[in-house]
Amino acid sequence: MNFVSTRNNKIKVSSAYAIAHGISSEGGLFLPESIPTISHDEFNCLASKSYIDRAAFILSKFLTDFTVEEIEYCVKGAYTDSFDNNNPAPLAKLGDNTEIIELWHGPTCAFKDLALQLLPYLMTTAAKKENDGKKIVILVATSGDTGKAALEGFKNVKDTEIIVFYPCDGVSVTQKLQMSSQEGDNVHVFGIKGNFDDAQTGVKRIFTDDSVKAKLDENGYEFSSANSINWGRLVPQIVYYVSAYCDMLNEGKDLSNGFNVTVPTGNFGNILAAYFAKAMGTPINKLICASNRNKILTDFINTGIYDKNREFYTTISPSMDILVSSNLERMLYILAGGDDQYVADLQDKLAKNGCFEVNDSVKNSLKDVFYGGYCDDEKTLDTIAKVYKDFGYLCDTHTAVAICVANEYRQTSGDNRPMVIASTASPYKFTKSVLSSISDSIPEDEFEAIDLLNEITGVNTPKPISNLRSKQIRFSEVIDKTALDKAVFKSLNI
Ligand SMILES: *Cc1c(COP(=O)(O)O)cnc(C)c1O
Repeated sequence: MNFVSTRNNKIKVSSAYAIAHGISSEGGLFLPESIPTISHDEFNCLASKSYIDRAAFILSKFLTDFTVEEIEYCVKGAYTDSFDNNNPAPLAKLGDNTEIIELWHGPTCAFKDLALQLLPYLMTTAAKKENDGKKIVILVATSGDTGKAALEGFKNVKDTEIIVFYPCDGVSVTQKLQMSSQEGDNVHVFGIKGNFDDAQTGVKRIFTDDSVKAKLDENGYEFSSANSINWGRLVPQIVYYVSAYCDMLNEGKDLSNGFNVTVPTGNFGNILAAYFAKAMGTPINKLICASNRNKILTDFINTGIYDKNREFYTTISPSMDILVSSNLERMLYILAGGDDQYVADLQDKLAKNGCFEVNDSVKNSLKDVFYGGYCDDEKTLDTIAKVYKDFGYLCDTHTAVAICVANEYRQTSGDNRPMVIASTASPYKFTKSVLSSISDSIPEDEFEAIDLLNEITGVNTPKPISNLRSKQIRFSEVIDKTALDKAVFKSLNI
C-alpha cells in the first residue's frame, strides 16, 4: 500500500515514510492510495477478538510495509496496561438507542491517548526502516489534549525529543497543569501568546522552513509531527469505530439498517477516522459532525463555503476551538476523487484569502455523507445537566456538544437508527464547566471543584487527574507566537 500526497499524488511513499515524516515536503498530507475493505467474514472474526487483535488487523491493512511482528509489538506496547480495565474503548448506554463510546480511559483522560499511546511505537519502528539514524523531534501544536497525550506517549522514548506549544489562555486549568507538570527527560513545553490556530500555523511554518530544517539536519535531528496531520495518528482511530461495531454485534443489536456516528469535531481527525471505518465496510450511515460556537464546519457542510474570516470564540469545549481543520484537506481529496490540483488550489485560496468554495459535486457528496450541526456553551451546559438527570450519566463539555447535535439530527431528520457518540474526554478534565451545570456552588480551587463533583455524582475521579495534586510545575515559559523557532533551538541546545 502506497501513500500519496493530497497536493501532488505523484509523490508516493511507504507508510513508514508517511509516519516518520508526518507531512509531505510540499505541504500536502499523506493518504493511502486506496481504502482497503473488511469482508463480512472478517467482521465476524473480529467480533470474537480483543481490542488489541482488532487493532493489529486494521493496522495490517494499511501498514503493509510493517511485518506482523512489528505490528504486534506496536499494538501490544500501546494497549496493554495503559487503559483502565485494558479496554481502550468501552461502550456506555444512554437509553436503548444510543451508545457512548468512551475514549478517555487512558493516561491523559482524552481520546487522543488511543492514537498517541501507539504513535511512538509506530514512529520509532518506521524510523528504523527509514534508517537514517537521526533523532526525531516531535513538534506539537495543541488546543490542550493532544499536547498532554503526546507528552505521555513520547516521554523518555529513546532517540526522540518532544516540544509542545499551547495557547497560554486557551486551555483548561487541568490541561495546563497536566502539561506544565510533565515528567520525562526529552520533553519541552511552552505557552504561546495567541490562540490554537497561531500555534498550529507557527508549527507548520517551522516544518516547511528550509533553514530550520538544515540547522536540525546539521545537528542530527529531523522533525516529525504528532498532530493529527500524521497518518500514524489517524489509523489507530479507525480501530475504535470498527471495534464499537463488533461490540454491538456481540450484544445482538439490530444493525440491519446500519447506525449513525456523531463526533465532536475540531481538526476533523476523529471524524475522518470514522469516515475510513465506513469506507472500509462498517455499516455507518450518517456521520454527524458536531461543532461548538466556532461552527466553521457546520457552515461548510451546509453551504460548501469554508470561510475562516470570522470571529474566533473561546468556549467551554476548548479542544474544538479551531478555525482551520487540517484534516479536512484529506476529506476534500477523497470527495474530489483524488484531484490533487484541485485540493492544492483550495488550500492555496485558504492560505491567501482565508476562504474557499467547493464545486457542486463535492458539495453534494459532502452533504450525502455528513450532517453538520453546532451547540453553543449554554446548550452544552443544559445538555450535561439533562443527560445527568435523565440517565445518571456524567459527560464532559465536548461530549455534550456531540449529544446535543445528535439529538438535533434525530429530530430534524427523523432518522432513528442506533447512534454511536464519541465521548472524547473525561468530565474531570473540564470540571468547573461540568460542575456549573449541576451545582450552584463552584469552588475557586480546581481540586476542591474536582472533589465536589465527585461528592455530588459519585463518579470516580480518574487517577491521572487526582495525582496532579502532588505534581511539581516544571514548565511555565510563555513565548511570543513568532518565537517558536527560537524555542525549538533552545530546547535542542543547538
Ligand atoms: C481533540 C479533541 C476533539 C477534536 O478532535 P479532532 O480529531 O481534532 O476533530 C474533541 N474533543 C476533545 C476532548 C479533544 O481532545
